[in-house]
Amino acid sequence: MQAWDVIVIGAGAAGLMCAAEAGRRGRRVLVLDHGKRIGRKILMSGGGRCNFTNYQVEPKAFLCANPHFVKSALARYTQWDFIALVDKHGIDYHEKTLGQLFCDDSAQNIVDMLVKECDQAGVSIRLRAEVLEVDRLGEGFMVATHNEAYSCHSLVVATGGLSMPKIGASPFGYKLAEQFGLRVLPTRAGLVPFTLQPEDKQSLEPLAGVSLPVVAESEDGTRFAESLLFTHRGLSGPAVLQISSYWQPGERVRFELLPAGRLAEGVADSPNQELKTWLGRQLPKRLVEALLAREGLVNKPLKQYTPRELAAIEERLAAWSLQPGGTEGYRTAEVTLGGVDTHELSSKTMMANRVPNLYFVGEVMDVTGWLGGYNFQWAWSSGWCAGQVV
Ligand code: FAD
Repeated sequence: MQAWDVIVIGAGAAGLMCAAEAGRRGRRVLVLDHGKRIGRKILMSGGGRCNFTNYQVEPKAFLCANPHFVKSALARYTQWDFIALVDKHGIDYHEKTLGQLFCDDSAQNIVDMLVKECDQAGVSIRLRAEVLEVDRLGEGFMVATHNEAYSCHSLVVATGGLSMPKIGASPFGYKLAEQFGLRVLPTRAGLVPFTLQPEDKQSLEPLAGVSLPVVAESEDGTRFAESLLFTHRGLSGPAVLQISSYWQPGERVRFELLPAGRLAEGVADSPNQELKTWLGRQLPKRLVEALLAREGLVNKPLKQYTPRELAAIEERLAAWSLQPGGTEGYRTAEVTLGGVDTHELSSKTMMANRVPNLYFVGEVMDVTGWLGGYNFQWAWSSGWCAGQVV
């Protein structure tokens, strides 16, 4: 049985960061991944350009049943630390919107950078190596793949979440946590498009391709000002992906299509204009037609509406409410909500409080970031923290 100081399960963002840091400290580190390529999710992220962090990383951008948990790691390894690493490797990047940083060229740059960091730190990476079994061995662990068994002092579980099963997502990390008696919080898809109720399909499906800026609001009052995109399957776009993480089945979502007060301005400025014409100057025309039909709005010159009618129209446009049928699920979700309960882990080291030398980093734990580079920042920060101590 080959002996290692540290075995990391998962050659994704968190696992590679942790491995490089541990290797730099002189630890003999082996990374095992069942995939054919290193960092597959990084490669497909951000439309192939990897939104690797955000200028404005704050704890409030993370969902976690234990909200203070993320603070320590995010403060110890910040977005500025990761940006410095990207700079050190001469990778060009740009801010797209809302502080989101993307590679100019390709997400491959980030994978190459992590592989180089691992190489320089003497880390070994084995692909096509699915970890099938883990057992306690003294103070450390025995780790078995289909054809090898290894021993290690520290075991780092960096197996990610359940989204994108086609590229290797697996529940292995959750099962391992449960095997060692750690609580795993229920998982569900996050940052995911909504599907429609059957009764909404007829009126909304023809809007596929229509996009507009909105404010999306969940029933718990969380709000995101971003774009809404109608698709053949339902609703998508950044506003929907963001709010999906705060949505529970059966709940409604509200969209501010037109800010309150705008219609009153329209009545004052263009009293003779018909509602449809006026709205067509504020919103995409296809949406206006669908809304008039769907909401049963009568079309006439603005000055002919009574104040009560105007208030009702304004209310519908400022808080257009819809009950999604569901989400597209893990097939298209960017992240998995829930996972290993962070109450079980040290926020400083990511080690399991009750299982010495067992660590969890990245998305496998119950920490989920907003859209915008936050999930990778969590992978870097949590991986780095574990890398200092494993
Ligand atoms: P992963 O990157 O998922 O790595 C886990 C690794 O573990 C995988 O390589 C898997 O093969 C391996 N593994 C699992 N089980 C086993 C086993 N039993 N044995 C061996 N290996 C195993 N976040 C952002 O911040 N910015 C973005 O631009 C962005 N874009 C995204 C786009 C898409 C399409 C998706 C799906 C996600 C995106 N995310 C983005 C989210 C981000 O990719 C993840 O949060 C991040 O990759 C999590 O890193 P991780 O290291 O925890 O897990």
